Amino acid sequence: MTATDSVDTLWEADAIVARRERYYAASQRRFVPYETPLIFRRGAGQYLWDEGGKRYIDLLAMNVCVSVGHAHPEVVKAASAQIAELTHCTTMFYHPVPAHYAEELAATMPSGHDWVVHFTSSGAEAVDLALMLARSRTGNNDIVALADSYHGATYGAQSVTGISGFRHGIAQLGGVAFVAEPNQYRGVFGPGTAPYLAELERTIDTATSGRLAGMIVEPLQGYGGIVEMPPGYMAGAFERVRARGGLAIVDEVQSGLGRTGETFWAFEAHDVVPDIVVMAKGIGNGIPLGAVVAKREVAACMAEKFLFHTYGANPVATAVGRAVLRVIAAEGLQDNARRVGAALKAGLLDLQQKHDAIGDVRGKGLMLAIELVKDRASKEPDPETTARVFEETRRQGLVVSKSGRHRSLLRMVPPLCLAMEDVADVVAGLDASFAAAVA
Ligand code: PMP
Repeated sequence: MTATDSVDTLWEADAIVARRERYYAASQRRFVPYETPLIFRRGAGQYLWDEGGKRYIDLLAMNVCVSVGHAHPEVVKAASAQIAELTHCTTMFYHPVPAHYAEELAATMPSGHDWVVHFTSSGAEAVDLALMLARSRTGNNDIVALADSYHGATYGAQSVTGISGFRHGIAQLGGVAFVAEPNQYRGVFGPGTAPYLAELERTIDTATSGRLAGMIVEPLQGYGGIVEMPPGYMAGAFERVRARGGLAIVDEVQSGLGRTGETFWAFEAHDVVPDIVVMAKGIGNGIPLGAVVAKREVAACMAEKFLFHTYGANPVATAVGRAVLRVIAAEGLQDNARRVGAALKAGLLDLQQKHDAIGDVRGKGLMLAIELVKDRASKEPDPETTARVFEETRRQGLVVSKSGRHRSLLRMVPPLCLAMEDVADVVAGLDASFAAAVA
């Protein structure tokens, strides 16, 4: 008997599907990746088991949330202890756990600045707050965002999201100008940094008032298809944005927490110090937790009014946040991401030699993707082959995700504890998936 049997949870597959179809709103039913439902029952470390007992290597980490591994004992212990003692403590009262965590998060930021933290329970809430902060602090309205960005589903976050599949046909917030993403594989201006910075200036000069509230950037775009900002882009962009009165906002919801291997926050590899950093997902290892970390003087403008996120600074979520930081340090998971990520990327590059459908392999650390094309010269995206390979990966016991504007990428963002021993299995599973799908 498992924990969920005891509370009258029915595990019969057809009934699970029927109940979801019947009671989930259309808005929550739409997003189903495979041709037939996949029902998960259990996770441990980098592995998942479905309701029939089949094991999978989790290369999606439940959408980049499970950073240190499923059911990590330290995280379970921290959550259980806190939930038993005090499950919630609203922010108007004092509790040491969120404050300790705020101190520990601030310590991960570049030194020489005075960082403060505002907790939320999701990434989109944190993005909304970042946009409000930038506008309040600067007195300017215009925000620049990148094409192919994803920042969340709420009104504010959706308004700065640059993928039409996530933008609903409703009036979005005004005052957002999009600029071409510096995609080195298929960006409109080809490879290089300078043409994209020139385009940023043109955009500021034409699509904004000329005075900016800020620019929001994912150092390594996630849903957009693992698009890494090229060297010099973030520094050049933020310099231009600051010259127009704007703030530098970095979205580390997917790319942060050691995932890119080289640095703890992905922006640190770009020689920039942001004014506002947004984080969520992996910081809570699957427990809802988000945060805006900002320079004290930037955050100060919000002191005049209440800004109350009911579950922001929840002691259970922040106890988990603390445990996650401890585990990353104790188990050397940032370095693991660097080493295992490099081995996996090498394996993916080998596959590219073998399978013509693979046009590009990119990313770093444990934030990787392969992009499928119909023809390597034209780089025409190949969503059909991607869908077939994707279906096959499931049979091979791999959980990956279809990503990108054209749904032509297989994105791999596993828990940071993916082991060296898993790499051969992942590469063999992908190899077999291509062989089966392309034959
Ligand atoms: N920013 C990025 C880069 C994201 O990937 C996401 C979620 N996929 C968000 C923000 C929004 O986070 P949430 O879904 O927790 O609101």
